[in-house]
Amino acid sequence: MTVDFAARLQVVVARIRSAEMRFGRPSGSVGLVAVSKTHPAADIAAVAAAGQRGFGENYWQEAAAKLPALVALDLEWHFIGPLQANKTRSIAEQFAWVHSVDRLKIAERLSQQRPTALPPLKVCLQVNVSGEPSKHGLDASDLPIVAHAVAVLPRLRLCGLMAIPAPATDFAAQRRPFARLRELQKALIADGLALDTLSMGMSDDLEAAIAEGSTLVRIGTAIFGARA
Ligand SMILES: *Cc1c(COP(=O)(O)O)cnc(C)c1O
Repeated sequence: MTVDFAARLQVVVARIRSAEMRFGRPSGSVGLVAVSKTHPAADIAAVAAAGQRGFGENYWQEAAAKLPALVALDLEWHFIGPLQANKTRSIAEQFAWVHSVDRLKIAERLSQQRPTALPPLKVCLQVNVSGEPSKHGLDASDLPIVAHAVAVLPRLRLCGLMAIPAPATDFAAQRRPFARLRELQKALIADGLALDTLSMGMSDDLEAAIAEGSTLVRIGTAIFGARA
């Protein structure tokens, strides 16, 4: 069975535009990262042919296997997965964005390793808004010090914050952690940082994220289908 990726992409874009309208956000103010982890290069090419340019990957090895087949398409790559120190060079060379920076040491490596021929690497700090001890992301209490330190690294541009809240089914519960991330961003802006990005919202909670100010949603399943 062939999958109609263009139709799926259209449904997701319509959900985004409709949530923008419903929550009083300017049309086009929410960007879309298509999360292609576990899906083959051919599917990424099909989604790109339908008009999508930004794609997200979680694992360097997997991305490295797919990227060569896609270089001609001039896609914008977003790294959204856990960061290991020994993979930062490849990520700094191949990606336009890293959403999952969760410690200063990793940010320093990315800045040192970002090639000077490329524009600064855009980064978000990942925050553990649900307060789950096992989860990735900075504690909110550590965020201000780390944010100010990352903001001055020469080869990075600190754009904003990212979160992956624990799944919740009702809308009010989905909104709460996103509202928390927005408040954290507001405090950093009041403290002098020029942040314009909130990377939040996935297939099941993108409306709640847009209601709370998301500027980039990261959508996998609703575009590519279920992961094995
Ligand atoms: C997998 C993943 C997504 C996409 O999740 P879906 O529920 O499939 O839309 C978004 N963000 C991150 C960080 C992910 O790992």
